[in-house]
Amino acid sequence: MSTELLFRDDAYLQTASARVLAVQPNGIELDRTIFYPTGGGQPGDSGALVRANGERIAVTNTRKGEALGSVLHITADGSQLQIGEPLILEIDWPRRYALMRLHTALHVMSCVVVAPVTGGNISPDKGRLDFDIDIALLDAQHIERETNALIARGVNTETVWITDEELDARPELVKTMSVQPPRGAGRVRLLKIPEIDLQPCGGTHVANIGEIGGIRVLKIRSEGKHNKRVEIVLAS
Ligand SMILES: [Zn+2]
Repeated sequence: MSTELLFRDDAYLQTASARVLAVQPNGIELDRTIFYPTGGGQPGDSGALVRANGERIAVTNTRKGEALGSVLHITADGSQLQIGEPLILEIDWPRRYALMRLHTALHVMSCVVVAPVTGGNISPDKGRLDFDIDIALLDAQHIERETNALIARGVNTETVWITDEELDARPELVKTMSVQPPRGAGRVRLLKIPEIDLQPCGGTHVANIGEIGGIRVLKIRSEGKHNKRVEIVLAS
């Protein structure tokens, strides 16, 4: 079953109404959702499903189901929900907003370190990218200074959609070797940070990169021949 992904058009929705589509042993499916499912290095959202009687059912994680467009809301006690039942959705907003700031910060940083990206991950308190580069070329102070200078431009981010064919014609857009953009839906979503970055991404981002504030490089270390890891935190 297919779920309308409200966070794709508005990553700032903290609450919304929805109805139960299916109650699966491995999660609850809804007709629409603001919960981001784990993917592209960004963890799934947590929060609550609120029933009409005020009862709150905790969502501990969100992930994609097997069918294209299906989203599973993981709950400990959701089996009592009824098909068609109306719910109010609430995400853990401080956690998600930290993820959005860090996620967008990684986009900016990927333009300071000019090398293929071999991996990446985000958690609410830190984010990292792995690069295929000589570690001697990674300088924490330089990365921090240049990334923060770009963040200080305070430009608005934009979502752009292109077709699979347009993406195939522009392979240089795909910097991340380990995470190929999702295909099969006929079109691919890009995050555009004007004059800084343009790359396929299905995640959630801040509307203006100034919201990141600034970053600090926590650690640079080798994780193998082709993985030199740069770990960052938000400066405030
Ligand atoms: Zn992204």
